[in-house]
Amino acid sequence: MMRNSQIRVMVIASLTMAACAPSEKPAPDEIAGSADASTSAVIAEDHFHPKGKAPSEYTKRILREAREGLPFDDDRDFEEYSKGFIAAPDSKLIMADAGHVAWDLERFDFLMEQDEFDSIHPSLVRQSLLNMNFGLYEVIDGIYQVRGFDLSNITFVRGDTGWIVFDPLISSETARAAKELIDEHLGERPVVAVVYSHSHGDHWGGVRGLVDEADVQNGTVQIIAPRDFMAYAIAENIYAGNAMNRRMFYQYGVLLPASPYGYVGQGLAQGTSAGNSGLIAPTRIIEDDIEELTVDGVRMEFQNTPNTEAPSEMNTWFPDMKALWTAENVTGVFHNIYTLRGTFIRDALAWSKYINEALYRYGNEADVMFASHHWPRWGNERVQEVLQGQRDLYANINNQVLHFANQGVTINQIQNVYKTPKSISDQWYNRDYHGSAKHNSRGVVNRFLGYWDMNPVNLIPLSPADSAPIYVEMMGGADKIMARGRELYDEGRYFEASEILDKLVFGEPGNQAAKDLLADVYEQLGYQQENPGLRNSFLAGAYELRSGIPTGESPDSLQADVARAMTTDLFLDFVGILMDSRKAEGMEFTINLVTPDNGEQYVIELSNATLTNIEGFQADDADLTLTITRLGLAQAMMGAKSLADQIADGSAQAEGDVGVLSQLASTLVRFELGFEVFPGTAAAPAGEDLNDFEVGPIAQPSE
Ligand SMILES: [Zn+2]
Repeated sequence: MMRNSQIRVMVIASLTMAACAPSEKPAPDEIAGSADASTSAVIAEDHFHPKGKAPSEYTKRILREAREGLPFDDDRDFEEYSKGFIAAPDSKLIMADAGHVAWDLERFDFLMEQDEFDSIHPSLVRQSLLNMNFGLYEVIDGIYQVRGFDLSNITFVRGDTGWIVFDPLISSETARAAKELIDEHLGERPVVAVVYSHSHGDHWGGVRGLVDEADVQNGTVQIIAPRDFMAYAIAENIYAGNAMNRRMFYQYGVLLPASPYGYVGQGLAQGTSAGNSGLIAPTRIIEDDIEELTVDGVRMEFQNTPNTEAPSEMNTWFPDMKALWTAENVTGVFHNIYTLRGTFIRDALAWSKYINEALYRYGNEADVMFASHHWPRWGNERVQEVLQGQRDLYANINNQVLHFANQGVTINQIQNVYKTPKSISDQWYNRDYHGSAKHNSRGVVNRFLGYWDMNPVNLIPLSPADSAPIYVEMMGGADKIMARGRELYDEGRYFEASEILDKLVFGEPGNQAAKDLLADVYEQLGYQQENPGLRNSFLAGAYELRSGIPTGESPDSLQADVARAMTTDLFLDFVGILMDSRKAEGMEFTINLVTPDNGEQYVIELSNATLTNIEGFQADDADLTLTITRLGLAQAMMGAKSLADQIADGSAQAEGDVGVLSQLASTLVRFELGFEVFPGTAAAPAGEDLNDFEVGPIAQPSE
C-alpha cells in the first residue's frame, strides 16, 4: 500500500517537474550563494572548491525519495556496532613515524553534526556513521577487535600465552596503536601468531608494527596464510600498478577533501591509513580446503575460499568458542565483483558457494560471526540470516545477469536492467556500499563475455578524441551543445547532459566552459550516489575538469618489502612491461641471469622488440651472463643500487657484453601517475591555485 502511493507521488512529481522545470529555481532560503549566470546551478559557499555547486532541487528530491524507501526501522546494525565496547583513545588521530598524520577520523566529525545532508545519499550517511565506530570492542570472551583505526579491523584472539592476531591493518603505526590500546585495557601479552585472512594489503601491511621479523625467523611467532597468498599479495598489484594507483584517485577519492560535498567514507570503512607498510612472508600456509590447526591452545578450522573477494582468502571457525571469522567474504556491504580501481573480475558464483559452505558447515552452531570490516553479528538466528542473505546476493547477480545476457542484454545495457531483488536490498548488509548493482552487473558480463556487445560499431571503435569532433560538428558546434547542456542540467537530466558535454570536452580540449559545465553535471550525479566508489568517481571527475590533475608527490607503490617479496619472474615480467617496445625495434640479445644464493637461473631474451624470460634454463650463446645475489637484484628493483654500480664494485659479476644492459635500460620508461583522463587537464587552468592538495602515500588495499 505504502509502496503504491510512493510510486504515484514519484510519477506525479516527475510529470510536474517536466512541466515547470525550466522556471524552477532553488528557493534562496534553502541554498546560500549566488546563482551561476548560465544555469540554475548555485555556488555552494561552504564548498571546498570555488566552483563547487550546491545540490540541485532534482538531486535533493532524489535523496529525499531514497530516504523514504530505505529500511530505517531496522536498527540492529547500531546495536551490533556498539555492543562490547571497552574503550577508545581520546584522539582520533594516529601519527606516522615520518611525522605526518597516518590516520584521521576527526575530519569526519561533520557527519555527526546534523541528521540529514542534501549532498550525501542518506544510506551512505548511515553507513559512514556506523563506520565511525572507534576503539576496542569485545566480540566474545577471548576475542577482541580494534575498529576505526584503519580501513580494516584488527582482531586479537586470546591464546594460552599470548595473542593470535587476525589481519594487522595497512600501516605499522596503526597496528602498533591498536596493540597499545589492548595492552592498556586487557594487559600486556605477546603476539604469538598472525593470521593473514587474504592477500589484500589492508590485511597484512601493518605486520611490522606488531612483530619483529627475527621472531618470525626463529619460530617464536608463526605467520599463517591461505594457499597462494604470496603470489597474489604481490602479483595483483604489480603488472598494472601505476594505472591502479591513478584509478584510486577516482574510486577512493584520494584528492577529495572530507566534506559534505566531497569525500564522506569508503563504505568498507572511513579511509586508508598512510604509514609504513611492509610484508613478512607467512611461515605456515593452509593448503587443504579445510584444515585444522591448534595455536597457543586455540583450536581453529580454516576454510580456504579461493577466488572470492580475493584470489587467496580463508575463513576461520573457532569450534570451542562457536565463533565464525568470515575474513572479508561476509561483511556489511555488497562487495565488489568489479572493483573500479581495477583488478580481475571476481567470481560471484564461487563467492556465493563458499558462503553457502560456511553456512552449512558452521552456521548451525555459530553463536557469533565477525569479520575484517564492520561489526559482528550475534545470535545464531542473525548469523544464519546474514550468511543466507549474502549468499543469495552474490548468487543472484551472477545468475540473473547471465539470465539477461542469454537473452541479449549487453554489457552496455545491463546496468540499466539488472536490479538486486528488493528482499535482498532491504537488508542493510546487502546494500551498495562497496560494489553496486550497476558496476558489478557489468563486471559479471565482462567476466563471461568480455567487453564486446556484438555491435560492430564497438568492435574497433574510434578513440574519444577522434570521434568527438564529428559529433561536435554534427550537433552544430560548441554554442549549441552548451545551450542544450545547460537546458538538460536545468531539467535535472544529468546523464543525458553528460553524454553530449563529454563529446564537447573531448572535441575541444581547450574549452574550459564545457569542462566546467560537465563538472557541474558530474557533481550532481556524485551527490546522488549511494555507492562511495561511484560518488567519489563522479566528484573526482568534476574536480579534475575544474582544476586539472593535482601535482605532488607520487606514491611509491614499490616499497622495499614488496620488491624483496617479488619473485624473479614477476620482476622480469614487469621489466617487459616497463619496456617501450617501439624503442627496442631492431635490438636483439640474450642474457643468462644467475642468482646463486637461491639457485635460480633465467634466460632473458630480447627479440622482435619483446622481452621474455624463462626459468630453469641457460642459453649456450648468451651475450651476457649476469651473476648477482637475490638481494642485489632486489636492490636493483627498488632503485637502491643499480646493476651498473653493483658490477662496478664487484658485488655482481658480468661476463660477456655488458653493453646489452645499457641497451635494455635505454628502452625502459618510468610510469608517471599524473596521466590525463580528460584532455587538457594535465596543466591546471590559468588562475586556479588548487593544486596544492597533498596526495599522501597511497596504500594498496585492492578492495
Ligand atoms: Zn579489506
